[in-house]
Amino acid sequence: MFRNRKYILDMSDLQFKQIRLPFKKRLMRTFLWFMASVMMTLVYVFLFRSLFGSPKEKLLEQQVENLKLQFSLAGRELDRSLEELNSFRLSDEIRYRPILDMDSIPGTYRKAGFGGVDRYRELAGYANSDLLILYRSKIDVITSMARVQKESYSAIAERATEWKIEKDHQPYISPVDVKYRLGDGFKFREKHPVLGTPRMHYGQDFEVPYGTDVHATGNGTVIEAGWNSMGFGNFVVIDHGYGIRTTYGHLSRINVPKGLKVKRGDLIGQSGNTGTSSGPHLHYQIDQFGQHKNPINFFNNDMSAEEYSEMIQTFASKGRLR
Ligand SMILES: [Zn+2]
Repeated sequence: MFRNRKYILDMSDLQFKQIRLPFKKRLMRTFLWFMASVMMTLVYVFLFRSLFGSPKEKLLEQQVENLKLQFSLAGRELDRSLEELNSFRLSDEIRYRPILDMDSIPGTYRKAGFGGVDRYRELAGYANSDLLILYRSKIDVITSMARVQKESYSAIAERATEWKIEKDHQPYISPVDVKYRLGDGFKFREKHPVLGTPRMHYGQDFEVPYGTDVHATGNGTVIEAGWNSMGFGNFVVIDHGYGIRTTYGHLSRINVPKGLKVKRGDLIGQSGNTGTSSGPHLHYQIDQFGQHKNPINFFNNDMSAEEYSEMIQTFASKGRLR
């Protein structure tokens, strides 16, 4: 208490006398002290906050961290989607389209709908504008790629259906069991076995015993079934569409009427020795748009005799090729 009191030496009587300030001044002093302590408190609070942050700020900081995490996870998902779409595009370009003999989609069409400088103008000027624009552009690329891919797949599916129909109609198998020996092929014969004169042979002969089952080699319609006076004897001609016809000659028996729709593997007759033939065999011929084709190019050669008879049995039980 003493320290707070001020004394003055009175030179008149050499006595220390306590200084008593006027009330107003004392009040003023108290007020200044009060103000100073308030100021100090504020300074301390400010310092504390700037160093450690307020609880509310802490909460906000946490939320910001969470959002950042979610944002980067979303970014990773976007990149994954882009990778997926790219692999779809690749399989589209190097697998499906070449197999189905389709043109590839022009790059300009694939890239339509993304890019452009002014596209993201409304996203400019924010603290994280670069990131926002990057994400937004990725989303646009994904949307556009997905749209193109969807269109591409429906085109591929359509073409695949057509392609399968076409493949089912093409002569693809051997008309008789593959264990049988091939006779004369598609070649020029110096001496025809019956006529004895040089002649072009436009088909493939199969040296098969009399009465061997003969099968349709592809889906189609029987357009000839009967006697051929030009040398084929009993013969069957099947129109497979796409300009392709197959002829089966020298038959002993015909099992199908003209006009019947047949599937690959269907039994159409039995081999024989009718017409201009020097011994039991099947003459098999393929013509495309009126041109004779070498049947050997139409065979699926990598099939064993067992596989072939299994296939024919499957045809017989199902009545058609899958
Ligand atoms: Zn022949």
